[in-house]
Amino acid sequence: MTMPLHHDRLGPEARSFLRNDLDMLIDGKWVPARSGKVFDTYDPGTGRVIARVAEGDAADVDLAVKAARRAFEEGPWSRMSPSDRGRAIWKLADLIEQNADEFAELEVLNNGKPLSIARNSDVAMSADMFRYMAGWATKISGETLSISTPGNYHCFTVREPIGVVGQIIPWNAPLVMLAWKVAPALAAGCTIVLKPAEQTPVTALRFGRLIEEAGIPAGVVNIVTGFGPTAGAAIAAHEGIDKVAFTGSSEIGRIIVKAAAGNLKKVSLELGGKSPAIVFPDADLSVAVPGVAQGIFANSGQVCTAGSRLFAHKRVFDRVVEGIAERAGSIRVGHGFSEGVQMGPVISPVQHDRVMDYIRQGQAAGASVAAGGTRIGNEGNFIAPTILTGTTPDMAVVREEIFGPVLCAMSFDDDDLDRIAKQANDSAFGLAGSVWTRDVSIAHKMVRRIRAGRIGVNTHGSTDAAIPTGGFKQSGWGREKGHEGLNLYTETKSVIMAL
Ligand code: NAD
Repeated sequence: MTMPLHHDRLGPEARSFLRNDLDMLIDGKWVPARSGKVFDTYDPGTGRVIARVAEGDAADVDLAVKAARRAFEEGPWSRMSPSDRGRAIWKLADLIEQNADEFAELEVLNNGKPLSIARNSDVAMSADMFRYMAGWATKISGETLSISTPGNYHCFTVREPIGVVGQIIPWNAPLVMLAWKVAPALAAGCTIVLKPAEQTPVTALRFGRLIEEAGIPAGVVNIVTGFGPTAGAAIAAHEGIDKVAFTGSSEIGRIIVKAAAGNLKKVSLELGGKSPAIVFPDADLSVAVPGVAQGIFANSGQVCTAGSRLFAHKRVFDRVVEGIAERAGSIRVGHGFSEGVQMGPVISPVQHDRVMDYIRQGQAAGASVAAGGTRIGNEGNFIAPTILTGTTPDMAVVREEIFGPVLCAMSFDDDDLDRIAKQANDSAFGLAGSVWTRDVSIAHKMVRRIRAGRIGVNTHGSTDAAIPTGGFKQSGWGREKGHEGLNLYTETKSVIMAL
């Protein structure tokens, strides 16, 4: 195996974690794939191999589902008192924090994001999600119902864990995506078969080591690493799984829905987006310009809620675009371990080529590059923060999710909020959006008019464990996080007692 560059930046714990091939967690044991296969995982900042990982497939998924079923039906987890369950989930938050430096280093190495962001945003948000959901474990309850049927009845509902859940997550924020899925499922009392993205399995496997330490019984959390069409597809189709929760592209979301139809397992989906950022002429540009820039360039644009379509009023359009272009030019792009870096690479050569193709396609269709538009360096998958102007609603760069640091800038010359909203809503997606104005009335009216799951006013993409997240239209089914996120992992049972 190639000796990975940047291992010198890893602490002794992270280095020791990567020393051997990484096995999967099934039924409380660390095991290789049944097939014996392994696959390489990379540092997107150098393109070098950082570890070899077990390549699980249908056979391993089957073992994991059986373990999860046993743990659910027979094990103590689903019968444990909610407060004991909450305590174990809280412990996971503590353990993530105790190992925060190691998690951050591994996330940088495998995903590419800057170290300060991995440490202060991703790892912190993940711990917070577990702590937030630990609190909900003791607050899951039904209601007493008043009914009109003549007679003497007592009716109520209880909420019960949905059972064995399959969870399939993407690579853009590996630990955060894990936390959004695993924490509510554990709070509800479910058992889990999790598949991290094949590009970023490392922090999920490191997280697996915390499971036993937190006192969570064997089989409750199983982690199967492997590829989408094999391990992922096996989870989506498995008859022993009661529910599948998926985050990823809308294209794969459709495949998951079809695969889940066999046993009609419940499905929740967090899919793609093409979110609008709408800047009104009265907006405070000292807030809007950095806010819109952050909304698209954060995490190299690999954020489902990225504000990838800018609509700025004609009166401020030039100033907004110039301001964002200036920021784009000054963003320090580089390896996540390099001092002062603000933006890392995109995840893979495939994603790099995809993003560059979109930029070329946009130019061929008549768009101009106002900033960036180029690859940076010869090593790793770096792309300069890019702004395309002269884009029109029919262009692929405006309609399709690029999932890279590319902003399509458009102007409007209208005061009619319905027409402005119509432009913003002209998308198959409906995940997020933002409105930039000092006028509280415009803000409220636009919030009502944008058809998306999360709207920022004078902020884009802000989130919190308490804020439900998910999409209108083709951006998904259901809401993760917040109290609503728990409902994805419980079933309502109605009880009617004739007295
Ligand atoms: P992807 O859909 O290709 O892969 C996501 C996951 O699905 C991976 O674990 C992959 O192995 C698995 N997968 C692939 N094919 C599969 C199949 N046939 N059956 C079962 N599983 C399969 O997406 P990606 O490229 O990894 O991630 C980027 C996409 O994720 C973007 O479109 C982005 O918008 C979306 N995303 C959405 C959110 C959200 O909260 N809505 C968050 C992050 C990313």
